[in-house]
Amino acid sequence: MTDSLKNFPDQRGHFGTFGGMFVADTLVNALHQLQQAFEHYWADDTFRQLFYTDLRDYVGRPTPLYHAQRWSDALQGAQIYLKREDLNHTGAHKINNTIGQALLAKQMGKTRIIAETGAGQHGVATATVAARLGLECVVYMGALDVKRQASNVHRMKLLGATVVPVTAGSQTLKDALNEAMRDWVAHVDQTFYIIGTVAGPHPYPKMVREFQAIIGQEAREQILQRTQQLPAALVACVGGGSNAIGLFHAFLDDKDVALYGVEAAGHGLQTGEHAASLTAGRPGVLHGNRTYLLADEAGQILPTHSISAGLDYPGVGPEHAWLKELHRAQYVAVDDQQALAACYQLTRSEGILPALETSHALAYVEQLAPTLSPQQSIIVNLSGRGDKDMNTILAQGDDV
Ligand SMILES: *Cc1c(COP(=O)(O)O)cnc(C)c1O
Repeated sequence: MTDSLKNFPDQRGHFGTFGGMFVADTLVNALHQLQQAFEHYWADDTFRQLFYTDLRDYVGRPTPLYHAQRWSDALQGAQIYLKREDLNHTGAHKINNTIGQALLAKQMGKTRIIAETGAGQHGVATATVAARLGLECVVYMGALDVKRQASNVHRMKLLGATVVPVTAGSQTLKDALNEAMRDWVAHVDQTFYIIGTVAGPHPYPKMVREFQAIIGQEAREQILQRTQQLPAALVACVGGGSNAIGLFHAFLDDKDVALYGVEAAGHGLQTGEHAASLTAGRPGVLHGNRTYLLADEAGQILPTHSISAGLDYPGVGPEHAWLKELHRAQYVAVDDQQALAACYQLTRSEGILPALETSHALAYVEQLAPTLSPQQSIIVNLSGRGDKDMNTILAQGDDV
């Protein structure tokens, strides 16, 4: 039991030398309160009942585990199974987490929700649960992203949220996160900050993981029922790392199951225009925790690039940094063009249009599957659907 990797982080949020709580004094109290509330309610059957009932009736869980037969046959290797998080309400895994945090906010008596968003997916998932629970909602979004992701901005407004464009820095996700933190410090009494991935200061990386772990719990049961054995490998894309940890967590102690996290190599690792913090970055402190990140010699955070806005983040959740150092998981990177090609491939062979984030995981599966036998299986997390990416896909001008 104590040997289990599932028991981490420790009480102070440490995964080995990663994680922790590196924040201004003004936030320490709020984070301790949050940690206490989370631990109290997460151990409470009534709260869990609320959470799992919402996942069933509002989100649509359990999501299917789908055998991609034609795609598997084409790759001539392992049997590939897709965990269909794209079928969740709002089209991705993010809602699992926003439901959990919004229910917690309600229990804590908070009346106001804030969130950061990059592409707008987490903003939409947050605005959705805020509408449902009747909570005020403010979403911080880089001014550049507000322009790039106009339809998600409209969706959030339609849901009753206020969208605040952030004009600081590179006007993207990391700046939105800084601004949301600032808001939280100023309005901590009535406000709950819903972070969208397994990053940020303790207890966020643990809390978000616990809410997303349902993905792997279902998948483990489903694959055992279907094939009577564990899969040879799990594959998921990694932005902040929440869909990957969500899939991995239930399998962490199954040493024979290989874990692969796939980062965005953007225009190519050698160009410096990418978002591969684990593959090409180094340890440092960002957004309240110690993790791998992309920074220059002076510690200045570097600009990132990926065709998929959801992977375009210069850091990564601390649990992934730890799993990398333990060699429990392997992290690889796939570039924009490889991801696009895999997006077309899955759409044509299975009739499923995946998100461009997800397509990074699919591109790696195309490399991995042929190295395994048809008696083995791979589960890939189909983290979201690609409808939101139609403009990006069409802008490539490919003859599709
Ligand atoms: C946001 C997003 C991601 C990246 O976030 P993680 O926290 O790394 O999971 C991946 N896929 C989709 C569809 C997303 O919307």
